[in-house]
Amino acid sequence: MNYSMDNGSVRWDDVMLLDWRFDGFPGRVLWVDLSQGTVEAKEIPHDWLIESMGGKGLATRLLVEWDTTDYDAAMNLKHPVLDRVDTARHPTNPLLFMTGPYQASTVGSSGRAVVVTRSPLTDVYIDTYIGGNIGHVLRQAGWDGLFITGASNHLCRLEIVDGHAQLHDATELAGMTTWQVEQTLEGKGECLSIGPAGEHGVRIASPLTAGRRAAGRGGTGAAFGFKNLKAVTVKSTSKEEVRFASEASLKSAVKIQRQEMGLRRRSGDPFYAFGTSRGPIYASENGRMPTANYSSTNAMIPKFSELKVSGGQGGVVASDGSPVTITTELDAHELSGEHWHESLPDAKQSACCAPCPIACEAADRPTIDGEKIRKRPIHLNRVDRPEYETLAMLGSNLGLTSSLDVMDGNDACNRLGIDTISGGAALSIVCELVEHGWLPEHWADHFHAPFDFGRYKQGDVVPWQFGIPELPPLALAMLANSQPGDDGLFSVLAAGAVAFSEYVEKTTGHPATRLTAHCKGLDLPAWDPRGKRGNAMAYMTANVGASHMRAGYKEPTGLPNSSAVDLMEELIESQNSIVIRDSMILCAFAKGATPDRVMLDAWNAITGDTASWDDLMHRASIQWNLARSWNVEHWDRLGKNPIETDLLSWRLRKEPIPAGVAAGMVSFVDDQDEKACMEKYYSLRGWDENGRP
Ligand code: SF4
Repeated sequence: MNYSMDNGSVRWDDVMLLDWRFDGFPGRVLWVDLSQGTVEAKEIPHDWLIESMGGKGLATRLLVEWDTTDYDAAMNLKHPVLDRVDTARHPTNPLLFMTGPYQASTVGSSGRAVVVTRSPLTDVYIDTYIGGNIGHVLRQAGWDGLFITGASNHLCRLEIVDGHAQLHDATELAGMTTWQVEQTLEGKGECLSIGPAGEHGVRIASPLTAGRRAAGRGGTGAAFGFKNLKAVTVKSTSKEEVRFASEASLKSAVKIQRQEMGLRRRSGDPFYAFGTSRGPIYASENGRMPTANYSSTNAMIPKFSELKVSGGQGGVVASDGSPVTITTELDAHELSGEHWHESLPDAKQSACCAPCPIACEAADRPTIDGEKIRKRPIHLNRVDRPEYETLAMLGSNLGLTSSLDVMDGNDACNRLGIDTISGGAALSIVCELVEHGWLPEHWADHFHAPFDFGRYKQGDVVPWQFGIPELPPLALAMLANSQPGDDGLFSVLAAGAVAFSEYVEKTTGHPATRLTAHCKGLDLPAWDPRGKRGNAMAYMTANVGASHMRAGYKEPTGLPNSSAVDLMEELIESQNSIVIRDSMILCAFAKGATPDRVMLDAWNAITGDTASWDDLMHRASIQWNLARSWNVEHWDRLGKNPIETDLLSWRLRKEPIPAGVAAGMVSFVDDQDEKACMEKYYSLRGWDENGRP
């Protein structure tokens, strides 16, 4: 099939359900060329599907095998803020949206999909996961996923109904928030869309579905924006073509998983009541929760006026050399989901990634004028309980202490289409730079409120300061409507915290890059690696940069410094096992209740494969190296040594945590230890001494 751009609606006579070519796999992607305005089905060989395990593995294989990037042209694109190329912005950069073998099945917690591309934020490989139902429905409609290349010369949307796909003009959706898009397109099926941030190419933008589920990391919302693709809607009219090798074996694997989930719920596992939102209590006690722009990790805010960022010796010390004075303490309980539930008696648990027996999310269902509001979240304000990452990054990291205040920033990110982690990092670095007095002279230490909110009226001065609850929603709105490219504060910030710090350092001479926390340009999530053995190496070796979702970590935190070199084998095993999870695609929160044996049995039952767990681990290691090679090839084009790209940012390597259980610690014992860990890891992966597979 090959359909041209069409302003009309789907011709229902043309709609047909596509057969699944293989057990467990539709066996095709929808190839979308936005420059040509065409869509067509492209078949995938069976051995690729089995070898890659679908999802992340398949997306990586297609990205490498079918890479459409015109590197000669793309390498000439200059980044709007940084002194580097901007390959990801080129129209030929492929953008994949893929499902895995668990989607369209009864495996619990499988309402997921993955976005894979070259990250607009980091210019390297990114895979980032999204909940909701769109993954299930796309697969039921007969597609393993979407392979999108080219760029439309006007805003467009992609509509899929079973085997029929059509591109439509979408200029009427321009400037809309994700919630407005979903309301406008209601009735067209599951909807994935970008908000103003993605449209403007903000490098920390995310696409969203179901009003509150985001493919958060790496700025993939900007990848949709570069292509002028505002929204994708997907509808499936039947499940009858879904095909599994053995329904009976699948049923018994799923039964074991569900029994375990039921047991955990009945035994009072707090995750089943609060999801990740209990995180602030645990993370602050263990010295891992970013506070005031990663300057501390235990909900204690250092007194910035007494801080000195040294010229290279390392360490945060008071200007007279004495330890940092702690002046402010946040309340981790107030920041937690427990407090959120105590404060909102109408809040209810819910699940938006069905089928999910865990149902880890919660939303407020307020009573207004005596009537309980039951509308879908896109029709309400301030409804969702933020995840831990958001509570930390838009809470403690901005000096805020109430989970109710964090809701406003969370909802702003959902509406505008912004990653809450990188959004928090972007706002917090400005606040810390102001504390140090390091902003360039042509920028003010405040901005004007773009609309009435909280204590601020439109036009009021909002200072760039920690501890202002109104700051996140107001500043995020300014950010989402800025375009990286000119000299304005928000335009530079729209390229992300790392680019912002480089600009400030270059412009003022102050060591602003020392205030960032990242690896490969990806902002650190809300788990600080200092004083945690092995965590630094997990961030450094993940192909995407600093992601907390690419390896598990060993307890405990904050032991006296000791090398993690003995953990490298275990780290690799953990990374490989997560590749399996992300290829099938199972929610990370369900892994504990889904033992390897159950995952394997479900895979074999769905696909008809006869693999062992070791076979799958071997396939996973191939995926890991494939993505690494794709990155290394790019670093070679840029003349960069892979080792340099693997290092964490200065703050994490050299600046000891000021207080708490991990006080005085950095990410490694010393530089020698860092080197030893890297050498051991490279050698176990079969890479050379420069980190090349
Ligand atoms: S555990 Fe939560 S995030 Fe995971 S699938 Fe279930 S509802 Fe979605």
